[in-house]
Amino acid sequence: MGNVKSSSLGYPRIGEKREWKKNLEQLWAGEQTEEAFLAKQKQLRLSYLQTQVEAGLDYVPVGDFSDYDHVLDTAVSFGLVPDRFAYNGGKVSVSTYFEIARGAKNAVAAEMTKWFNTNYHYIVPELNAREPQLVHNRWLELFEEAKSELGVTGKPVILGPITFVKLAKQYGKKTLAEHVQKLLPLYGKVFDQLTDAGATLIQVDEPVLTGDVTEADWLLFEEVYRYFEENHASANLLLQTYFEAVTDFSRFLNLPTAGAGIDCVAANQKGIEQLQKIAIPENKIIALGILDGRNIWRSDLVQLFKTVNNVQSTLNEENGQTLILQPSCSLLHVPVSLKHETKIFPELKDALAFANEKLVELDQLKEVINGNVNEAVLKESIQAVEGLNQSSSRNNEGVQALLHERKQEDSKRSVNAQARFDLQKEKLKLPLLPTTTIGSFPQTKEVRKQRLLWRKGELSNEAYSQYINAEIERWIQIQEKIGLDVLVHGEFERTDMVEFFGEKLAGFQFSTNGWVQSYGSRCVKPPIIYGDVAFQEEMTVKETVFAQSKTEKPVKGMLTGPVTIYNWSFPRTDLAEEDVVNQIALALEKEVLALEKAGIGVIQVDEPALREGLPLKKDDWKAYLDQSVKAFQLSVKSVQAETQIHTHMCYSDFQDIIESIDALDADVISIEMSRSHGELISSFEHYTYDKGIGLGVYDIHSPRVPSEEEMIQNIQRALKVLDQKRFWVNPDCGLKTRQEPETVAALEAMVRATTKVRHTI
Ligand code: GLN
Ligand code: ZN
Repeated sequence: MGNVKSSSLGYPRIGEKREWKKNLEQLWAGEQTEEAFLAKQKQLRLSYLQTQVEAGLDYVPVGDFSDYDHVLDTAVSFGLVPDRFAYNGGKVSVSTYFEIARGAKNAVAAEMTKWFNTNYHYIVPELNAREPQLVHNRWLELFEEAKSELGVTGKPVILGPITFVKLAKQYGKKTLAEHVQKLLPLYGKVFDQLTDAGATLIQVDEPVLTGDVTEADWLLFEEVYRYFEENHASANLLLQTYFEAVTDFSRFLNLPTAGAGIDCVAANQKGIEQLQKIAIPENKIIALGILDGRNIWRSDLVQLFKTVNNVQSTLNEENGQTLILQPSCSLLHVPVSLKHETKIFPELKDALAFANEKLVELDQLKEVINGNVNEAVLKESIQAVEGLNQSSSRNNEGVQALLHERKQEDSKRSVNAQARFDLQKEKLKLPLLPTTTIGSFPQTKEVRKQRLLWRKGELSNEAYSQYINAEIERWIQIQEKIGLDVLVHGEFERTDMVEFFGEKLAGFQFSTNGWVQSYGSRCVKPPIIYGDVAFQEEMTVKETVFAQSKTEKPVKGMLTGPVTIYNWSFPRTDLAEEDVVNQIALALEKEVLALEKAGIGVIQVDEPALREGLPLKKDDWKAYLDQSVKAFQLSVKSVQAETQIHTHMCYSDFQDIIESIDALDADVISIEMSRSHGELISSFEHYTYDKGIGLGVYDIHSPRVPSEEEMIQNIQRALKVLDQKRFWVNPDCGLKTRQEPETVAALEAMVRATTKVRHTI
């Protein structure tokens, strides 16, 4: 065909060396003027565009760049500034923009929540704030900037109206459709101004189309896109979806837009299959998300070449059907460049592709498809992928054999929960309403400084370990003095709950610069699971046993669970997800057993990320939850009945997965609930939870010391629906981000509150 084009949905914001993050933080710290900040942002933005142009992209995204978050950008462009922030109309100022995101003295920040099933967080728009108005056409501004500064005709990227409203809150008395309708003329104006300025294609993101779409939603989609077609016919809209396959593909393709963008990676070929089954409307641009925009693996381009060829054969150029190749979603979710990775061993590095390398892959594929370059260039990619697949670093026969064997077995503990409860009661002799914490204590500047010195080799292993032990001992004494019942060692040796285990288990690799944006300027560096995961050495036993040697009270061992480790990593894709999760589980099981053998009778396996891995479509939930439950169980099932297994989760959105959480069969679960106390408790009005449970009695996200009365109320409320013999008292989550004095004061109040409630029952 010869005229397949390439495009991308968005580019990472953070910069090759996190320049963007630094620029933001310098502004916030008052270390630079707003002018200097904006100039630097512009420079970064243009350099990102330049990189993409040089990589050979035909359609370069503009407007995806953000000073914080693209959902917030959309809200402020429509003047949707929550009432609690100062605003007098017109373009929202830089300072107000950041206040909405981060909070101001007298106004709490807008809520932040996860962007679909990724680890990116967006700012939740508040619809009741004001009547929407187009106060700033940022898309036009950025389109024109690219044009005048670089001579580039960009492809504006804009979050579609239906997804925007669905992600928002505070609908007030209006319905979803009414809010959308109010926005339509504003979007129309944006489209017209862009088209007048020369935009030939506008990417409108409607990722909600890949979740559960009701009939009413479909009708709304049809109405909205018909409205644009009728009233803004000259604007060429590319309706973009990602993160999953679209539910009703035929209906989607027949929405009256110039183009349709689909994710062919997330749904394992489902996107391609759908495409091949359906009559494609005339004059439709099909944008094929063919390279994995969420993960960091290099693609097998030979395979992709075949796939694209197949799709191409179903298109008819004479009918005006054209093809665009692109990543499956915005490259926001992968690190920028492999250029600075010096630590990654060659076989692995060869098989990786971060954002910039993906653009190179995309261009190669396009050039071969268009017949400009010989197919042979694609072979190199297979060699790289195969090289790693065959490599001994990826394959551990022992692990594979063990997984094969253990996968078949019943993953449940052999003694039932009630019998375990009795045995543990006898052994641990805990009071009614036992008190405990979630694991970490304040990671002070000093703790971080010592760790850094040790990492740099300026502090010996012995000196570091002595320092950690001293901290542990100090905190054991503090906990005893406070009067807590089940103590923890405090996690002073850990920077991050996944990194700590990843560094010690086989099969993980850490990058030096593989950062991705999590929220605002906060970036995370997910480990890469490249090989079979294996236990190599004890990871937590030394510190836990040391802590236990300093007290008569039980010390709770502390591990991160298999599902959380998996969800917060870049996992390998050559093995089924289930197998990778179970490998992690089996490696952790060895640690659990080692702790038990060393005399630790209470062990907590944290799964704060269990919920966030939920698939976008409800129909897929069961398979994910069953798999997660099984992995958790595998990691703890072999302990003796007397050993008490705890787990912890960080969300209060509980109701819809309560059965799976129950199925984990943990002896005790602690759940964060600060954000919706009432809601979580009501989940238990209709569900009999018959194992140990602690509903966080105070919010750890704020330095405020909660009052005794408040906590008494929280406990009493919970006891209305939960069995007092099984209720635990604990804070919401780990205390690592808090200061020492407020932590001690809050825990003292928590113990006093518990004692008072104990006297009343
Ligand atoms: N044990 C961890 C801690 O206390 C749990 C962290 C979490 O739930 N995110 O820090
Ligand atoms: Zn938590």
